[in-house]
Amino acid sequence: MSSDGTGGPRKGKVIVISGPSGTGKTSICNELLRRLPGAVWSVSATTRPPRGDETDGSAYEFISPQEFARREQAGDFLETAEYVGHRYGTPAGPVRRAVEGGRHVVMEIEVQGGLQIARRMPESVRIFVLPPDMESLKARLAGRRTESEEIMKRRLEKADGEIAFARDSGKYTYFVINDVLDDTVEEILDIIRKEMETE
Ligand code: 5GP
Repeated sequence: MSSDGTGGPRKGKVIVISGPSGTGKTSICNELLRRLPGAVWSVSATTRPPRGDETDGSAYEFISPQEFARREQAGDFLETAEYVGHRYGTPAGPVRRAVEGGRHVVMEIEVQGGLQIARRMPESVRIFVLPPDMESLKARLAGRRTESEEIMKRRLEKADGEIAFARDSGKYTYFVINDVLDDTVEEILDIIRKEMETE
């Protein structure tokens, strides 16, 4: 394993992927995990119910609001946020262990959480994914068919605000447009390689 200049093993990178619901973030993350050697997925905890065929522990750890509050109080989370009526949080332990062990961690989180990660882990790489246009966002959300019209509408309404928030925060270094998945993944892999070189 290469050295970090202090004699210790080189740390892994925390890679934050954010963007409005329906931009294809999950597909991007899955591809990154497939193509980045040794990278691990950060399994978030959430109070929202499972969607479609999501199973506990793979996409998310599905927990009650009481359990979420207890773990938040205990300082278990690296960051937390509320999104369309539910709580989401990144468990700190697995992220710290992976990074210390030289593995990259891929996390898909919304912008409030991205800002908290920027503060606590300034060396993280923060990437915001944009849809090619709002029409394609609408089409992708509608195509999902695992949520009610009302939830879909609320997620869509949130998109503009999230984009503006990410831009104004100054905490997202990279904005990539996800038109063709393979090109987007290549672009992100280039960003990660560049970040590793400039350390
Ligand atoms: P969904 O319900 O569609 O899976 O996720 C809703 C939003 O919450 C998405 O923008 C997703 O990236 C974000 N999210 C998922 N897990 C976390 C987390 O642990 N922390 C934060 N801050 N956001 C999360």
